[in-house]
Amino acid sequence: MRATKATIDLAALRRNYAQARAYAAGSKIMAVVKANAYGHGLERIGLALADADAFGVATLSDAHRLRSAGLSQRIVLLSGFDEAADLDELAALSVDTVVHHEYQVELLERREKGQIGVWLKIDSGMNRLGVPAAAVRTIHGRLSLASAVADDIVLMTHLASADEAESVQTAEQLSLFERSTAGIPGPRSIGNSPGVLNAPGSRSDWVRVGGLLYGLSTRADKVGADYGLSPVMSLQSKLIAINQVAAGQRIGYGGTYRAETDLPVGIVAIGYGDGYPRHARSGTPVLVNGTRCPTVGRVSMDLLAVDLRNAANARIGDPVILWGPDLPAETVAECAETIAYELTCGVTRRVLYVEKGG
Ligand SMILES: *Cc1c(COP(=O)(O)O)cnc(C)c1O
Repeated sequence: MRATKATIDLAALRRNYAQARAYAAGSKIMAVVKANAYGHGLERIGLALADADAFGVATLSDAHRLRSAGLSQRIVLLSGFDEAADLDELAALSVDTVVHHEYQVELLERREKGQIGVWLKIDSGMNRLGVPAAAVRTIHGRLSLASAVADDIVLMTHLASADEAESVQTAEQLSLFERSTAGIPGPRSIGNSPGVLNAPGSRSDWVRVGGLLYGLSTRADKVGADYGLSPVMSLQSKLIAINQVAAGQRIGYGGTYRAETDLPVGIVAIGYGDGYPRHARSGTPVLVNGTRCPTVGRVSMDLLAVDLRNAANARIGDPVILWGPDLPAETVAECAETIAYELTCGVTRRVLYVEKGG
């Protein structure tokens, strides 16, 4: 049997949630579960975090799935709605929406029936989603008068560079947000995971954390464990062949790796078809029986090759860990020039998911 599996450690998830509470004491916590909970499984993560104050999703269909799973907490549609029909669905599901643009304000003003929760997003310098800081007062006033909008509008913004220590951009964003919202009543929501971990000024009434809950850091120089977090996902497969490769032979597509000496090469039943990054360079570590061994050659769709010189006793059938508590996804991500979030999000449907610590 193909033994490629992702183990999801729900006890680790709950420890990370407790860490979020400790970092942002006094803040309410929105558990961000977009993109299938960063690849960990939406319903599974939602149900395991039943004490989260809210959930953040990117699509209405994810909100639907959380409600169908029986979750009754606040849910926030982080990218907001984009047409009038979405408002009926938001109302039917009791889901809050982000408002980041004036066209959404117009759609809300045209709607008579109400009580849709609104998180008004202000662009404080990321230049992605958000109303201009100079327009916040006017737009907040209009939303407050719209009968479709529930009271207690949350004021939010998103940080672009909170994973950099002492970021000047973060300081500028916090200051612009503060100035442009001064005197407007309502809760504030600023920090994402990097903000909660690195920028105390972003630990506002509400924090919105995703990566932190899954035990992941976005920084190149720090892994989740450096912040007291535990990786929730372990990705594992096994050796399905061991071959002796002679000096001078090439390994894999394109023959990009050439053996300098004779070496044992293990073939692992995992590839980019499972979500292991094709761009992970030769030399990316994997764990064979707990020992770090480097990959050799290009990652294929279903397979990858490993130099077994560090694990001379390895046998066919032995387990191989691609990432997990003893091999941070951040390390693999760095070898693939990406961040750990993209790796866990990318695990595909043919991988078997197994839960532990539930
Ligand atoms: C994805 C997202 C978050 C969570 O970001 P993390 O770095 O995973 O904590 C927070 N806020 C918004 C608006 C998001 O889209």
